[in-house]
Amino acid sequence: MSNSVKPGPVVRPGILEIAAYVGGESKVEGVDRVIRLASNEGALGPSPKAVAAYQSIATEIHRYPDGHSGALRQAIAEAYDLDPARIVCGTGSDEIITLLARIYAGPGDEVLYSQHGFLMYPIAAKSVGATPVAAPEVNLTANVDALLAAVTPRTKLVFLANPNNPTGTYLPAREIERLHRGLPSHIVLALDAAYAEYVAENDYEAGVALVNSAENVIMLRTFSKVFALGGLRLGWGYAPATMVDVLNRIRGVFNVCSAAQAAGAAAIADRDFLDRSRAHNETWRPWTHKALEDLGLVVTPSVANFLLVRFPDAIEYNAENAWEALKTRGILTRKMTSYGLPSYLRITIGTAEEMQATLAVISAFLRA
Ligand SMILES: *Cc1c(COP(=O)(O)O)cnc(C)c1O
Repeated sequence: MSNSVKPGPVVRPGILEIAAYVGGESKVEGVDRVIRLASNEGALGPSPKAVAAYQSIATEIHRYPDGHSGALRQAIAEAYDLDPARIVCGTGSDEIITLLARIYAGPGDEVLYSQHGFLMYPIAAKSVGATPVAAPEVNLTANVDALLAAVTPRTKLVFLANPNNPTGTYLPAREIERLHRGLPSHIVLALDAAYAEYVAENDYEAGVALVNSAENVIMLRTFSKVFALGGLRLGWGYAPATMVDVLNRIRGVFNVCSAAQAAGAAAIADRDFLDRSRAHNETWRPWTHKALEDLGLVVTPSVANFLLVRFPDAIEYNAENAWEALKTRGILTRKMTSYGLPSYLRITIGTAEEMQATLAVISAFLRA
């Protein structure tokens, strides 16, 4: 009998280079009431109307969902004054990010993103065997010149989160237009506007105008942040008809579940709740920013619902130990080592009480 080893299944190129995405933690041993500031979920939780819509379909869950998310796309179109035929929904914008990589990139191709960009972009690139390429940033902000300089004949797709996670910084509309003008027309520009609803700056544009005027731009949005429906996994893209057509060919036939469709449509129609969520953030982000600066920490200016905070290098006051001190008291923030920012923590803007509790712990930590 031969004792040769039989070959095992072969994983496609790139897959084993992926460092699996690690989400924010949600539990602390021995603490009942955990304060969760690690995943940028909306501070006020979901709209009560979204919760009611979710509950209202409970007795219908034996039915397949609408495979075209028709009512949801209509609700999104009304809220943002868009053509519903050019909207495609996904199980989180993560699904659409992955689909874009599958459609437009493969082995030998490059997928471009900015240095501290969202980690799903290099993961999506590697998952299809493409090479992720990171363009350097300036002052923790995406840089159009650096992005354009990194374009090669192999570049197929550019992902740009605007505002970016985890930095919270953004590029004004004229810079996004300059980026688009500088890209060859066969390269897809995916503008990920996951935090668009929080941005109050006049020179910001989420991407609608550019999608309307170009054939190679898609805007991505999510229900996981300001609408606080992360548990349902719901996102959407707005794109030229040709791109929507391709996305509809390869997405899961029933990708968005009926609960997500119902809750999403109710959430997006609840304008009062959205206004309250924004107003809360506009109060508590500046409050938190200033309170952290008053403690001597360096805080990156953010237009989103989180802050990227730099801790001192001295080991007793560093980010790792601050994270631990917060966690011990049941407060979860996000370490930034996987983003190449080991001196930083990312802190989501939570409720008033949560921010006050967080500041009290950080203040005591820095004085110890
Ligand atoms: C949270 C986040 C997403 C993912 O959203 P889902 O819809 O939950 O998949 C996408 N992009 C950025 C920049 C994010 O921060």
